[in-house]
Amino acid sequence: MTHDQNVLLPWVHASRLFELWQEAKALGLASANVQLLTDMIACPGGDFCALANARSLPIAEAITQRYQDLDELDDIGEIDLHISGCINSCGHHHSGHIGILGVDKDGKEWYQVTLGGSDGSDLSGAAAAGKVIGPSFSAAEVPDVIEAVLGTYRDLRESGENFQNTVRRTGLDPFKEAAKQARHKDAETAAA
Ligand code: SF4
Repeated sequence: MTHDQNVLLPWVHASRLFELWQEAKALGLASANVQLLTDMIACPGGDFCALANARSLPIAEAITQRYQDLDELDDIGEIDLHISGCINSCGHHHSGHIGILGVDKDGKEWYQVTLGGSDGSDLSGAAAAGKVIGPSFSAAEVPDVIEAVLGTYRDLRESGENFQNTVRRTGLDPFKEAAKQARHKDAETAAA
């Protein structure tokens, strides 16, 4: 298992690759999304972890369902999205280009969204913790917020510029505004 929750099969003979791919595909394990948005890191969260403040897996699933079009994923490009269900940070949300952290407020699940985190890789640039883009969002709001953030990136990017570099160049303000606009009008908000 790799740290980004993929399965690596080493030493496969070239002559067996196609057969392996066919069998992996039959099992639903041949998604061509490595390093794209839906190849995310998510901790077990509240579905399986007693320490959680919020669930991670339904958030991951909702974002995955929203982004099923491989052409759209390719257009967004390589990007790290990480989700942790509490501040123990097993999903390394702080080092995700987009990070989602589950927080508890008055016994309810909320999610902080951070942008610009980096694990120090060539893709991500110098190691840095992501910065919060506003008060916490409800679970229902999170996929809309992610869509608003990515839409802002696609609007503002220069030719060939990846998400991380666009965030660095423009700063967080346009992304904060887009996330604010994506907030559900009738939703209770939390200032976590
Ligand atoms: S980040 Fe929190 S909720 Fe997620 S696995 Fe770690 S301790 Fe559990």
